[in-house]
Amino acid sequence: MENYNYTKYHPMDEIYRWMEDVERANPELVSSTIYGYTYERRNITLLKLGQNNTAGREKKVIWMDCGIHAREWIAPAFCQWFVKEIVNSYKTNEKLEQMLQNLDIYVTPVINVDGYIFTWTNNSNRLWRKSRSQSLPNSTCYGVDLNRNFKANWGTIGVSFDSCENTYCGESAGSEPEAQAVMDFVGAMVNQTLCFLTIHSAGQLILLPYGHPEISAPNYNELVSVDPNSGSSRDWARLIGIPFSYTFELRDKGKFGHLLPENQIQLACEEAYVGALSIITYVHEKAFNNSIVSNSAATTVKHFTLASGIAMMIWSTIMAVFVATGFI
Ligand SMILES: [Zn+2]
Repeated sequence: MENYNYTKYHPMDEIYRWMEDVERANPELVSSTIYGYTYERRNITLLKLGQNNTAGREKKVIWMDCGIHAREWIAPAFCQWFVKEIVNSYKTNEKLEQMLQNLDIYVTPVINVDGYIFTWTNNSNRLWRKSRSQSLPNSTCYGVDLNRNFKANWGTIGVSFDSCENTYCGESAGSEPEAQAVMDFVGAMVNQTLCFLTIHSAGQLILLPYGHPEISAPNYNELVSVDPNSGSSRDWARLIGIPFSYTFELRDKGKFGHLLPENQIQLACEEAYVGALSIITYVHEKAFNNSIVSNSAATTVKHFTLASGIAMMIWSTIMAVFVATGFI
């Protein structure tokens, strides 16, 4: 564990091993669950971070997933970074410790395991995005865009029905075992789930749910133009009733894109960690302390986007309203 290098990208076998090591080293905080299997029958595994609740209250759930798109290597790197930060700091951080008594944070470092492994096989596969299923018997093309396969206005916009395309949405909503596994697992605890965070790259944006016809961000059109789509996990999460649902688009803004150099992992993860923890703190305070923490969550997240050079919106408005549906 101490020797694990969080500023490098790791192949899947090392990530699986890392998950086992984290669980073994932190039994009072971390447990793992296999909640599904990929098309090629590999485990889809999450780590649950949470302490025993001594107050006897029902625990609430935070969901975070990474690596639904195979080539976005910074996303699994972030999920690992996030777990590392929580594990290393909760004992000396009273607020975090309190949150972990009230919340269980479910972290899936890699959902699209088959695709992720495929991107490691050789350089020509490095920019593979989809899963590795072969849904059409006579097609020479593989894979479904798993973030177009969720039951959220599936197949209506921003997708392709051509199985050779990068945004192929599959034969039906939930046709892919990876997407269905998330829908089953999260769907079963929807009433406890406060927040759904799904981590992607690139763009350095946090994409927000929308939906209220009267309220839109000042740059609504800009957001829409990023990537209007249907069948994303984020839309699905909001549609089933999870109040806070966000897509993080990590570094960078296009120079390297999905080939983000390893020397940027730390910066990308540090800024996203601040953003993620701010959101989690906010929803925790709202649920358990019945208070809105001044504007600190809003402000910190705003800094995340500002630091990225993109002042996207007025966070206090969004936080106050938290309306939904969305993009990507
Ligand atoms: Zn993505």
